[in-house]
Amino acid sequence: MSAGHYDRNNTKRLDADWVQAQLRRPDARYLVFDESLKLYLDNINFWPHWLQSESALELETSSAPILYLGEDDTRVLCAVQTSAQLDNPTSTFTHLRAAVPVLPPAVAAAASHARSLFAFHKAHQYCGWCGSKTVSQQGGARRQCTNCGATAYPRVDPAVIMLILHPTSDHVLLARQPRHPVGMYTCLAGHMEHGESVYDAVRRETFEETGIEVGEVRFLDSQPWPFPYTLMLGCVVIAKSTHITLDRDELEDAMWVSRADVAKMLAARDGAMRWRRLETGRDLNKDLPLEQVQRFVPPSQAIAGQMLEAYIQRPNSGVFDFSVAEKTESRL
Ligand SMILES: [Zn+2]
Repeated sequence: MSAGHYDRNNTKRLDADWVQAQLRRPDARYLVFDESLKLYLDNINFWPHWLQSESALELETSSAPILYLGEDDTRVLCAVQTSAQLDNPTSTFTHLRAAVPVLPPAVAAAASHARSLFAFHKAHQYCGWCGSKTVSQQGGARRQCTNCGATAYPRVDPAVIMLILHPTSDHVLLARQPRHPVGMYTCLAGHMEHGESVYDAVRRETFEETGIEVGEVRFLDSQPWPFPYTLMLGCVVIAKSTHITLDRDELEDAMWVSRADVAKMLAARDGAMRWRRLETGRDLNKDLPLEQVQRFVPPSQAIAGQMLEAYIQRPNSGVFDFSVAEKTESRL
């Protein structure tokens, strides 16, 4: 979900005429979103339904600006948000959360970039200082107030996500929230607060949600998560205590899971994700009796999935001998 392999041209995009020319280029390809930030997806090929500039610029648009995302070796990448009902029998507007498990990483990164930017523009239409209207600039890379001139840059909300290791046995702590797909367990996570370091937030969130005290913490990797513009900061930690006291306002369940069971939950996730139908986001596990639901963990596109893969692959010795796998290069 991070850093699509394209040049954002942050210097050239300062020139408004240059941006307008890029948006009209015949080789420009547009991701299309609807007003609820769903992505227009070809459900046969599990691929965005890209539009060329001519078709994209004719679309009925909402108040959202047309976005210039960047440029790779072969094309210009843009995104448009439309209020129109598009008529294509095999493509539908799909929630990005349901689409991510089936999209190649570079495509998911571009869609993630666009979704977060559209959310930023929707939430920052008025100046936070004087209340006047703001306008998009630089192909959507910032907004500026029409009265006082204050600028607003795309907001990023940092959140910590923790792979918590049992202090004495080969187990990790996994939990689920009521809103998660039925059967899915994942790492604890929570937003950072002002005045906290990453390590402070890891300790506070873990204690608040499970009553578990955390010892050593190590930062592993980060990942953008476009709901709406979170940056996940992945850490591995060793617990100091093991008794779970669940915060029922946040979590439905939490448990220590053995290495063997984590491996089973990793193996089960692809089938489980396919059960969530792309068109509707409907969770087919809801139709099953709970005892028949196979437990699974998030897909490899989510940092929780990557951290659990790293846990399974690490040698039994060396608790902090972790690295999240080099991200697979792929083209759009
Ligand atoms: Zn202002």
